[in-house]
Amino acid sequence: MSGGWSAAIDPAADTGWADPPGRKGFFTDSSICIGCKACEVACKEWNGIPEGGMHLLGMSYDNTGALGASTWRHVAFIEQPKRSNGNGGFTPLPMVPAKPGEADISIGDTGVRWLMSSDVCKHCTHAACLDVCPTGALMRTEFGTVVIQDDVCNGCGYCVAACPFGVIERREGPADARNIGIAQKCTLCYDRLGEGMMPACAQACPTQSIQFGDLDELRVRAQHRVEELHGTGVTDARLYGADASDGIGGAGAFFLLLDEPEVYGLPPDPVVTTRDLPTMWRTAALAGGTLLAGAAAAFVRARS
Ligand code: SF4
Ligand code: SF4
Ligand code: SF4
Repeated sequence: MSGGWSAAIDPAADTGWADPPGRKGFFTDSSICIGCKACEVACKEWNGIPEGGMHLLGMSYDNTGALGASTWRHVAFIEQPKRSNGNGGFTPLPMVPAKPGEADISIGDTGVRWLMSSDVCKHCTHAACLDVCPTGALMRTEFGTVVIQDDVCNGCGYCVAACPFGVIERREGPADARNIGIAQKCTLCYDRLGEGMMPACAQACPTQSIQFGDLDELRVRAQHRVEELHGTGVTDARLYGADASDGIGGAGAFFLLLDEPEVYGLPPDPVVTTRDLPTMWRTAALAGGTLLAGAAAAFVRARS
C-alpha cells in the first residue's frame, strides 16, 4: 500500500454507525459473464434511469461505452487479439472451461477472445468522492456503501474529478429527466438493501457473475475461484479491488479479471485522490506561517 491508510477497517463503524449490520458488497466474476447486459437493464429499470441512446461506438459491440450518469452498471465487451510471442508466432489465449475439470479449449491461433465484465462503482473503503463533497450529499451507509443523496447534491462536480475510476458523472439530459445537473452513480441499491432485498443487477444476472453478500465471505469465495481457474490453466486470473492494503483500502465491489486491469480499462494501482491532502495542507500552513513571520520581522526592522 502507498500512503499509510489503515487496512481492513469497517467503513460504516469508522463513520460512526452504531452496531452496523456488516459490510455488504459485490464480487463480480468476469470469467462467467456472458455479456447479456441484463444487469444494465435491471439497474435502469429499478432506478428509473433514462436511456442513454443507442450509439454504435465503432470499436466494439458494446453500445453504452462507459459508466456514466445514465449507466450505473456497464458491461464492457473487449475483443482481445492473440498475443505475439516475440518470435514471429503467437501465444494462445486461455479460455475458461465451461465446467470444472473440462479440457482446456484454448483458442490457439484462431485470433480473438472475448472478455466481458460488468463494471460498477467500487464503493471504496477510502472514498475520495465522499471526502471532497462540500454539502454532505455523499454519505457512507450502515452497509459500508457510498451513496449520493440527490436532494442534497448541489452539482458542484468535485466528486466527479476526485473519483480515481471515473465513475461519477453529472446528468446532462434528456431534458425531461429528473436530477439534471446532479451527480449520479450506483447506490448499491440502498433502498433494496434496507428491505432485505438483493440489488437489482445481481438478481437479474443469469450466470451469477454478479454475486452480492457479506464482503468477508465474498473475498473467501473469490479466492477459491481464482485457485480453481489457475488449476484449469487460466493462470492470468486475478482479483482486482479485493486487497484491503491497496491504495483505496480495498473495494466494496471487487472483480475477478482474466487479464491485466488495463485490458478492462481499469487503473492498475488506484489511489484515493485525497491521500496527500493532509500533507499538502500542512505544507501550505507552514509556508503561510513562514511568510507571515518574514513580514512581521521586516515590519519590526522598518520601525526600529
Ligand atoms: S469508485 Fe469512485 S464514486 Fe465509487 S466510491 Fe470510489 S471514489 Fe466514490
Ligand atoms: S446495485 Fe443497484 S444501483 Fe448499483 S448497479 Fe446494481 S442495480 Fe444499479
Ligand atoms: S447480467 Fe450477468 S452475465 Fe449478463 S452481462 Fe451482466 S454480469 Fe454479465
